[in-house]
Amino acid sequence: MNRRTFLVTATSSGAALAIGGCNESNHQAIDYSKHPRKSNKLKHININRNKKVIIKLATSWPAHFPIMGSGVEKFAQRVKDISGGSLEIKIYPKNVLIPALAVFDACSSGQIDAFHSGPYYWKGKNSSFSLYSGIPFGFTAEEINSWMTFGNGLKLWREQYKKYNLHPFLGGNTNIQMGGWFRKPINSLADMHGLKMRIPGLGGEVFSKIGVNPVLLPAGEIYTSLERGVIDATEWVGPALDIKMGFYKIAPYYYSGWHEPGSILELTFNKHSFSKLAFEHQSIIEVCSSEMNANMTSEFHHNNIYALQKLKDLGVTLSNFPEDVNSAGKKALIEVVDELSSKNRDFAEVYADIRDYLDLSKSWSNISLKNFLNER
Ligand code: CA
Repeated sequence: MNRRTFLVTATSSGAALAIGGCNESNHQAIDYSKHPRKSNKLKHININRNKKVIIKLATSWPAHFPIMGSGVEKFAQRVKDISGGSLEIKIYPKNVLIPALAVFDACSSGQIDAFHSGPYYWKGKNSSFSLYSGIPFGFTAEEINSWMTFGNGLKLWREQYKKYNLHPFLGGNTNIQMGGWFRKPINSLADMHGLKMRIPGLGGEVFSKIGVNPVLLPAGEIYTSLERGVIDATEWVGPALDIKMGFYKIAPYYYSGWHEPGSILELTFNKHSFSKLAFEHQSIIEVCSSEMNANMTSEFHHNNIYALQKLKDLGVTLSNFPEDVNSAGKKALIEVVDELSSKNRDFAEVYADIRDYLDLSKSWSNISLKNFLNER
């Protein structure tokens, strides 16, 4: 049975698989050539509809959190619908069952079957994991999806997560993020020196090299810290989510960014939990995760365009960072990746693969998309 015959079979059985609505090329999970079932006849569909399988999935987001939280809820509903109710994803928002940043360990140990989060949260386990979220001045959303799916990204990621008994899928992309909200304007690199700024991941390490003091704060504490002057600036995501945080009221200078140009989100399964699922259930998860990945990426873009207009109407000052900030950031990135590569062979291996792919990708993106955007 190949991928297309399964899709056709499931559709003809009355299941609601919408091939056109899914990113069919974004196959992620199953080596079909090794699967023993070769026939596409309906009698080989092997789901027992009288025996419901329940997957416990914890997220790092609050209940009904826009885009990320609601996207996972839609994913769970699609899985339930397409499986005829035989596979149910039970969602536990952050802190309901597992603390937001403990989902990796909880899934690794088998306490839960799956989680939805972001790989750079686990860089303390292996610094190379931050590379799967994306890197400053690195991949756009489209480029990282290409590297993940058709380059070596997903292969490298799965090899490394395997050591933790985990099996990741692409689970969305924030699309390009904004550089952040500042209480005072940034006119030159000197204005960055000594600023206390909430910024995580590799972006935080790069900002640290150019004189910023990066601070890690949970989402619920950012606004009050900014309001009271405990921090001078914060990045978050982009207009769609930033406007809901209200930062524009207290830090009205909003800068475009390069620290998270296409951060991916992950849908990760406990390897044993996933492998014991029926082939059909595995396939439904694969297809629905591809759909979630595509939809969440588009939803960020869609919501950003309307939220940006609202922010303009509210009088927010939009700017780019000055050129000396950008050039210092590029120089700092080289120092950061050199240091991390010398300390961790995994980081060196993944970064080398990214660098080679990105060099080729930039050559194409610059001649095509960049020129087009400049002319549009
Ligand atoms: Ca961010």
